[in-house]
This record gives sequence, C-alpha cells and structure tokens, in this order.
Amino acid sequence: MVFMSIAQVMNDDMIGEEVELRGWVYRHRVIGGKVFVVLRDSTGIIQCVIDSSKVSPQVYDTAVNLGIESSIAVKGIVRKEPRAPGGYELHVKDLRVYGISRDFPIKGGEGIEYLLDNRHLWIRSRKLTNVMKIKHTVLKAGREWLLENGWWEVTPPILTASACEGGATLFEVKYFDKKAYLSQSAQLYLEVLIYSLEKVWSLTPSFRAEQSRTRRHLAEYWHLELEAAWYNMYDIMNVAEELTAYIIKRVLEENERELKLLNRDTSILEKSTKTPYPRITYDEAIDRLKKKGLAISWGEDLGADEERVLTQDFETPFFITHFPKEIKSFYMKTDPKRPEVVLGFDLLAPEGYGEIIGGSEREDNYDKLYQRILDEGYDPSDYKWYLDLRKYGSVPHSGFGLGIERLVMWIAGLDHIRDAIPFPRYRGRIYP
Ligand code: ATP
Ligand code: MG
Repeated sequence: MVFMSIAQVMNDDMIGEEVELRGWVYRHRVIGGKVFVVLRDSTGIIQCVIDSSKVSPQVYDTAVNLGIESSIAVKGIVRKEPRAPGGYELHVKDLRVYGISRDFPIKGGEGIEYLLDNRHLWIRSRKLTNVMKIKHTVLKAGREWLLENGWWEVTPPILTASACEGGATLFEVKYFDKKAYLSQSAQLYLEVLIYSLEKVWSLTPSFRAEQSRTRRHLAEYWHLELEAAWYNMYDIMNVAEELTAYIIKRVLEENERELKLLNRDTSILEKSTKTPYPRITYDEAIDRLKKKGLAISWGEDLGADEERVLTQDFETPFFITHFPKEIKSFYMKTDPKRPEVVLGFDLLAPEGYGEIIGGSEREDNYDKLYQRILDEGYDPSDYKWYLDLRKYGSVPHSGFGLGIERLVMWIAGLDHIRDAIPFPRYRGRIYP
C-alpha cells in the first residue's frame, strides 16, 4: 500500500477508505480501553484511535506504550469525527514503530532559553513549522516576481576582502595567512554586475556582529538585494513596493491555514497587497514624532522606538525618504536640490514592526564619491574598484536590501525575529 499524507486524507471523499499514514506521535492519551494518538506529519495532524477490542493485543500494547515523538506507521479507516482536530480521525487496524522515543525533553511550558537549547527538537513544533512554511512562500514568491520582471539572479561572494563600511559590526575570519570578513551586504558587488546585466538580484546570508540584543536583529540573516542600472530612487521604490505586495499576496493565497494556526489577524496584510504605499520624508517623520511628544531633533537616526511610534499612523507598509546624509551610508547619492539629505529610503512594516527594507539611489559621480569616502574617514585605496565603476561608463543606478526574516516576522506576526529562522544566531547564542 502507498503511504498517504495527512492532508490528503482529511476530506469527505476519503471517509470509509483504508489508508496508511506515517509520522510522529504528537499527543498521546489512554482512556478506557482506547488509545488516542494525534499523529503529525509535514502536512498536518490527525487523531488516530486504537481500540483494544479491534486490534491485536500486541498492537494495543505497543500503542499504549508509545512515547511522544515516536515515529510510526498506522493503517486504518478514515472516519468523520467533528470532535477530533480537523474533523476526521483514523480507526486503526495496524500500527508499526519505526523509531521509539522515550521522555521527549519538551513537554510544554518550558522557558525560552530551554527551548533554544533544544532548538533541534523544538523546531518540530507546530509554531515553527507554520513559520517555516510561510518563509518558504516568501522566498518562492520573491523569486517568482523577480523572474517575471526580468531580473538576473547572481551569486556575490560571502568572504570579502576589505573592512569597508560598518567596521564595528564586521565578523573577521582567518583567510589563509590574511584577514577577511563575512559579507554584511552584497550591494557593492551587485553594483559591479549592473554594468553588464543591468538588473540583478541575489539572496545570500548577511552577517552583522550586532552588539546589542534586540527582537529584530540577528547576527546571520537572509538578505534579498536588488540593484538596477538607469533606475532613480523613485523607480526602485516602485520595485520595492510591488515586490513586497506580491509576496504578501502569495502568502495570503498559499498560507491561509498557517496564518490561522498562528492566530494572525490578516486584515492589515490584506490591505498591504495594494500599492502604492504611503510615502513621507524624514522631515515629516520628525514632525510627527515631535507632535507625539518624543524628544527627537532633526539629524538624529530613527531607532526601533521611533519607528514603532510612526507605524501607528499607517495600515500598510510605508516609506520614509530623504534622510540626513550624516546618518546614512557614504554611497547614497545626495539630493541635488538639498545636499544635506540623501536619495535614500526605508520601507517600514506597520503594527510596530518597522524597517524591512533599506535602499537608495547610489552616488554615480567619481569626484563626489571620492570626497564622501574621505569625509567618512575611509581609505580610497580600499575602494579603488568601486570608484572605477564611476570612471568607466558610470550610470545612474539604485538598489535596496530586504531582510527576509524581518518580513517573515511581520507577516507571521512574531514577537521575536529568532523564530523566523530555524537556527538563530545573535550575540551570546550560536547553537547548534
Ligand atoms: P537597522 O537600522 O534595523 O539595524 P540597517 O539600516 O542597518 O537596519 P540595512 O543595512 O539597510 O539595515 O540592511 C537592509 C535590510 O536588512 C534592513 O532593512 C533589514 O530588513 C535587514 N537587516 C539589517 N540588519 C539586520 C539584522 N541584524 N538582522 C536581521 N535583518 C537585518
Ligand atoms: Mg537601513
């Protein structure tokens, strides 16, 4: 007999059919001559009833002694049962154990640190399974959109040569007899590639030695980055919102079940499938914050707290543009009309989540870029190759980076980014 998945048997057409299922014991109870096993596989859960009067004494005995997370195969008849989770159950005729499980370390009610120390087992939880399924759709949908819209996928390096921008958050590694660094962003390499491919993207891990532990920073995260020749800031903002809206739409289509199991209120997600998203300038953001009584002045960066307050005004993601150049990276192009601000933007997720995308138009003038590098105190010789791009056929261009776990965290309604990645890394934790 061919094994079926739990999702396949959970429908009226299967009532009365004999099927065989494989999976893990999720819950286990013995009540008056019957064993109730909730079986879990990658597609869902189903209650299986092993009745002492209907199976052999050996099968019943095996069923009684099953430990949580034992792997088993069961053969039986599908029945409708409104009281069972999902509305169906399996009346078992035969049962076979693949791998026993005794005293599974997670019994419910454990604290966060304990669960993180047992991540390799806790990962089987329904919560993390549902999040991983949503993340799968996020990655798939992102790729779909990019393929349909003519973007080339490229593979930038992870080991990088120079301690450029953001030295404080760089991870250093031994590279033969030299030092190298783990990439924080593929951007500079993507910029190299637009001179032949024009519209490029990559999905890579980015590494940031974030010193403080927050609920939205990881030391290793998945970074979707886009870079395009001929695009100005507004062109690339349009791309950022179309891509985001498409991903949300696909998750709503494909993960209705997972969102429900996570108790996610999807009304804001529904609204976020429509573009354009609202746009405010940094100046307006500061005004709004001041009106709400926050002590912030022009020139200061917006932290998580400021972002959270701003998100109260919006019911979809929204852009903040034209940041002071002092708080943004050297490669962002300054606004020709207002040289104190850059043509840079962040896209913030609503409901308190904050930044999910950061992007900009890039400085394409050799002399201006050279000066910005000096002003930041960097060594122009480290950037010779990057400056060369402005020497040989420079073009206006723009790009952005989207943090996959930030987006998943918001879409799934998680309260911490660690649950948006199977094996979270942040200061103080790298396990397993
Ligand atoms: P933040 O201000 O939130 O620390 P950033 O401005 O340093 O982020 P960028 O350099 O603009 O981040 O990176 C692009 C995107 O990568 C961000 O919009 C965010 O979605 C994501 N990102 C950045 N740092 C992290 C991190 N430590 N963990 C997870 N995602 C991150
Ligand atoms: Mg940013």
